[in-house]
Formats: sequence, structure tokens, C-alpha cells
Amino acid sequence: MGEKRIYDMIVVGGGPAGYTAALYAVRAGLDTLVLEKFSAGGQMGQTQVIDNYPGFEEGVNGFDLAERMRQQAERFGAKTIYAEVERADLAAFPKALQTSEGKFHARTVVIATGANPRELGVEEEAALVGRGVAYCAACDGMFYKGKTVAVVGGGNTAAEDALLLSRIAKKVIFIHRRDTLRAAKVYRDPLLRMENVEFHWNSRVERLLHQDNLTGAVLRDLNTGKRVSISCDGLFVSIGRKPATELVAGQLILDPGGYIQADETTRTSLPGVFAVGDVRTKPLRQVVTAVADGAVAVQMAEEYLAQLSEI
Ligand SMILES: Cc1cc2nc3c(=O)[nH]c(=O)nc-3n(C[C@H](O)[C@H](O)[C@H](O)COP(=O)(O)OP(=O)(O)OC[C@H]3O[C@@H](n4cnc5c(N)ncnc54)[C@H](O)[C@@H]3O)c2cc1C
Repeated sequence: MGEKRIYDMIVVGGGPAGYTAALYAVRAGLDTLVLEKFSAGGQMGQTQVIDNYPGFEEGVNGFDLAERMRQQAERFGAKTIYAEVERADLAAFPKALQTSEGKFHARTVVIATGANPRELGVEEEAALVGRGVAYCAACDGMFYKGKTVAVVGGGNTAAEDALLLSRIAKKVIFIHRRDTLRAAKVYRDPLLRMENVEFHWNSRVERLLHQDNLTGAVLRDLNTGKRVSISCDGLFVSIGRKPATELVAGQLILDPGGYIQADETTRTSLPGVFAVGDVRTKPLRQVVTAVADGAVAVQMAEEYLAQLSEI
């Protein structure tokens, strides 16, 4: 397919951040294309119920919300092409994106490719997502009010998740493969003081136990090899995320975690390139923060385009 035309903005990734950028861009009169490799919504599209996005008192299905965001942007003229961006020349003018459907060009590019949670890698993990296995305590914690949950990890996110869950759940079982927490003191100390948190050090989840829903897990002690079974209603995997930055590695400055270095302005190290949503350095990765970035990026892109036209 490919096109000779030069768009004002190409958005790479059709999650909430990408479609919000597209919505604001077309409403600002920018000729805008979204390139999405699977389907609208990204991670949000795979989420059964989103209970913390304002305006939906009964919660909202992630796929429905994604479709609404896409349709809203397209109502004002945004165009979507389903294609995977395979290579990008972001320093060129116009910026060039080589995709599975040919080459596209734009004056500005918004990177909205997200970040995926790292998985434990145990059997049946994927099948149990939404039936006990979860990756986001802020998103799914309330489903386990008064129940028993396990948290796997040892860094700041795991400690933060366990602290949050300890205020919601009856009991939290904290599973870490080492004998001490890597988490910062600000999370570590309060967590170690919580009375409803039980620690399993030097332990790895070997198997998930379930009927229809998760019922527990088998842990293996990494020092002794001894196995124990734990009972839990939910298991939160908090072992980090993998930002989708392969496309821009070597072109944009990344932070030590591999996220695109961009502050509240969403500006990256290259003029005319903006990073929005989960893929950029930020303290909270949620739908509400992703959509906020999308709006800000367009404001910044308009400033950039105005400077270009003065040259
Ligand atoms: C299980 C789970 C439950 C969650 N629950 C909630 C919740 O209840 N509330 C909440 O606020 N947040 C929740 N989140 C977090 C939320 O989904 C994310 O913060 C949000 O989706 C980030 O939006 P994004 O647009 O930055 O990225 P994403 O949603 O990850 O979208 C990125 C998009 O980019 C596309 N893409 C990537 N690379 C390319 C490429 N090379 N070419 C073309 N397209 C590409 C992907 O296919 C994807 O569609 C949850 C996350 C998970 C994993």
C-alpha cells in the first residue's frame, strides 16, 4: 500500500494514548494517520472491566472503550491503517515509517506503542488472566476485597502493589526469589510492618493451581528445593514491564528502564517526535494518564509545526 502523501502527524499505536492524540490532532486541523498492528485499544482493549476511568460509574469494558475512542477520532477525520511499523527514520524530514503495508511519511510522529507487563512464564498463566492472574494492582485490586492474594516480585512496583493490596485484601502473600527486597525504603519499611502480609523468601512460583478460577500456587524454595502449596484467590505478577521501544532504540534517548525519556511535555530527544502513554518515563501507567499525554502531545506538535512553517 504505502503513500506518497505527507501527513501532519502519524501516530504509531492505537491504544488510548494514540487515539487521544489522533482525536486532538484532527480537531486541531492536522492531517492524521494512526498505524496500529493489531486492533484499537492496546492493553486496554484486552481488559474486561475498567473501574477507574472517570465517567463510567458501572465500569466499562476495555474493548468497548477502545472502539469508542477509535470511532470518536475517526468521526473528526483521523484515518487508521492496520500495519506494523517495522522501521522508522525519525531524524529525516519528512519522517519516514516503513510498515508491513508500505512506507508512510509525516512532519511529526507520536510514539504510542505502550509497555507490556513481564510474565512469570509458568504454564496456564495466560489462560488464567482475568480468572485470578493479574498484572496491575491499581486496576484489579478491588476485585479481591476481603480475599487472599499473592504478589510476585521484589522491586518498587511489587512492594507498592503489595502495600496497596494489603489495605484491600484480607491477606497478602509476598513471593520473592531473593532473601531481601530490592524496593526503596519508602515502600520496603511499611510493607515489612504490615500485619496481614506473609513473606515467602527465596521462592519461585512453579505452578498455578486452579479449577475454573485460580485457587493457589506451588512455590519452590530456591535454596532447599522444597515445595509448598499456598491458597490464594488472586496472584499479581509485579516483575516489571517491557516498553515497546525496539523501533526507536538508537534514535531516541531511553531511560535506564528502557522507556522513552520524555517529560510532561511528551517531547523526546528528537524535534517533532513525541512519546505518549505507557512507553514514556512516568510515575503511573494507566488509561487516564495515557489519554492525558495524547492531548499534550498535540499541543506540542502544533508548536513545532508552527515553528517549521516560519523557517
Ligand atoms: C491486564 C491489564 C489490566 C489493566 N487494567 C487497567 C485498568 O483497569 N485501568 C487503567 O487505567 N489501566 C489499566 N491497565 C493499564 C492500561 O491498559 C495502560 O496503561 C494503557 O492501555 C496504556 O495505553 P497506551 O496507549 O500507552 O499503550 P497500549 O494500550 O499498550 O497500546 C499500544 C498500542 O501500540 C500498538 N503497537 C505497538 N508497537 C507497534 C508497532 N510497531 N506498529 C504498530 N502498532 C504498534 C499495540 O498493538 C497497541 O495497540 C491495565 C493493563 C493491563 C495489562
